[in-house]
Amino acid sequence: MNTQKCRICSSDNCHVIYDGPIRSGGVGSEFVDGYTYRRCEACTFVFIDPVPKDLDDYYESERYRLQFHYGKEVEEMQALYDQEQNVRVSRIGIENMRNKTVVDFGAGAGLFLDSIKGVAKKTVAVEPSGAYQEHLKARGHLSYRYADELREASVIAEVATSFDVIEHIYDVNQFVKGIYETLADGGAFYVSMPQENDIVRLLCPDQYESFFYQTAHLNYFNAKTIEIVLMKARFQEIKIAYLHKYDMRNVVQWAQHGKPGESDAPMLDEHFHAIYRQEIERLEIASHLFVIAIK
Ligand SMILES: [Zn+2]
Repeated sequence: MNTQKCRICSSDNCHVIYDGPIRSGGVGSEFVDGYTYRRCEACTFVFIDPVPKDLDDYYESERYRLQFHYGKEVEEMQALYDQEQNVRVSRIGIENMRNKTVVDFGAGAGLFLDSIKGVAKKTVAVEPSGAYQEHLKARGHLSYRYADELREASVIAEVATSFDVIEHIYDVNQFVKGIYETLADGGAFYVSMPQENDIVRLLCPDQYESFFYQTAHLNYFNAKTIEIVLMKARFQEIKIAYLHKYDMRNVVQWAQHGKPGESDAPMLDEHFHAIYRQEIERLEIASHLFVIAIK
């Protein structure tokens, strides 16, 4: 397997942009050597080389959750990530999900689907990890492990979502094509992911690089790359937006101490942080991209 060729556009012109230790798990985990990241000169896609082994098995088993989330219990996932659903629901808009079939690709423990259960006509999870299947079904979601199974079950999505999943996927084109094929004509796909031009990375490159790059992230995108991926899959209309997940205490902490966390800065209140996030998003240096693509 040639891991030095761009997995988006097949160009051979990809040079190493990072060669150093990377994170092997969640915050506080060990750093490991032996990986590089390359940038494709043609489409700007950034990808890991070599690719970690046994990826399917990794996500189907519990190893990923254990390494990156320190636990797999649903309650723990809820405690950690319930708050991330607020902005997802508000960005999409309840009115755009009412009485529709919503399919979440990489649904995890179903936190997003739980939050729209009373609104959507059907909530459908696609989640390779076996650990959550029973829980997802008990919550009233239809649950499948791979997109192919949706087609076999004739599930057609009116809204598709995939939050912070695409950076983990080996065959990105195939993944997006699978979502496109599941969508009804005119259906919307909402996709979010970490983006390369994150303010912390721009301000504190020396401290941040080895934390930013991690074995579970095979891919890094910017607005241009994700647009190319979505256009290749034949999406008609693409709207790029940014989402910054952290407040100003995070960047202050990195600048002061060179590590993650929240610096004490009591004079910065919620109002300040809301404006800070908006500004970071306007300047396109947010931690994440939040993209809408219409079939
Ligand atoms: Zn490329």
